[in-house]
Amino acid sequence: MTTLARQVRAAILQIQPYVAGLSDDTVRQQFGGQAVVKLNSNENAVGPSRLAIEAILSELEQIHHYPDPSSDLLRQAIAEFHGVQRDQVLVGNGSDEVIRLISETFLSEGDEVLVPAPTFSQYQAGAFLMGATVRRIPLSQDFQYDVDAFLSAVTNRTKLLYLCSPNNPTGTVVSQHALSRLLAQLPSHVFVVLDFAYNDYARDETRAVLTPQLVEGGRVIALQTFSKLYGLAGLRVGYAVASAAIWDYVHRIREPFNVNRLAQRAAAAALMDDQHRTLSRLLCERGMDMYGRLADVGYVVIPSQANFVSVRTGDGERTYQQLLQEGILVRKGFAGMEEYVRITMGLEEENEQCILALLRLSTVSS
Ligand SMILES: *Cc1c(COP(=O)(O)O)cnc(C)c1O
Repeated sequence: MTTLARQVRAAILQIQPYVAGLSDDTVRQQFGGQAVVKLNSNENAVGPSRLAIEAILSELEQIHHYPDPSSDLLRQAIAEFHGVQRDQVLVGNGSDEVIRLISETFLSEGDEVLVPAPTFSQYQAGAFLMGATVRRIPLSQDFQYDVDAFLSAVTNRTKLLYLCSPNNPTGTVVSQHALSRLLAQLPSHVFVVLDFAYNDYARDETRAVLTPQLVEGGRVIALQTFSKLYGLAGLRVGYAVASAAIWDYVHRIREPFNVNRLAQRAAAAALMDDQHRTLSRLLCERGMDMYGRLADVGYVVIPSQANFVSVRTGDGERTYQQLLQEGILVRKGFAGMEEYVRITMGLEEENEQCILALLRLSTVSS
């Protein structure tokens, strides 16, 4: 072990860096200006709300001033949107930051965190950062949540239980019924973090949703983001709704200016843009219908409630490379999902291009 490795905190040695989907800058460099279809990061193909852009433009001259450290106007807008109190809302530099803050607030070495498998990697990253132990609870065969499996994995060291609904990368949701049963049977020392990053795309009427009642009991933290439906991924704004008592602790360690000026303004404006929300959902729904065609040639398409779909091609890495040859970027490499690629809903012509490529590949390989 090098001197450096010995001096670094032991928990850091175990952590693998996050592998993001290629950024647009990287893509431009690699493809030398050639048109690329970017379906790898679940971004909103509609783009940002016009109201958000206008809010940023009118705020630009003010960027020599620090932002409001408590993001009051944005938190107020979010609180009114969900029918909760402002002090029940925490905003962060993306929900990634919120996940980290929750981890830093709750977790010590040896504590246990339950996460679904497969799922978004940031939950376990937060746990590893704090030296906590991660227990992965497999989804059922058809990628549904198994409440009993979560319940039986709880020990007296369990502090946090994560659910992602719709789940990334499967697009499956946790039902209101399953959530109620989980909360009713879960010991009081376990806090539930529900990540609703894609829930505004979902149409399943039985799914769990963010309501004032959900967080009333003080044990549920509901995460949301402006990165997906709202099309503001590049600004980095996420939020969470929970009891004010939880946030009292989190605010002690939060960076004072964690959400920048432009992001605060743009997010508040985007929240008011019903038209943009409706259009974004519509585009996603139409795209999802188009992907039905893949099932006709034998691909397994996991029914998804999000703005992405996971498709079983047999070899996700190979499909990823084959699509890349055609300038189509998708996502691969979720643990346990090696046979799949995850594809974001794009504009109609982008979806068409990706689907045609997959249809061609299916005839080549059969
Ligand atoms: C994209 C995503 C987020 C959003 O992260 P931000 O940091 O807000 O951009 C949160 N949770 C899941 C499951 C996601 O896929």
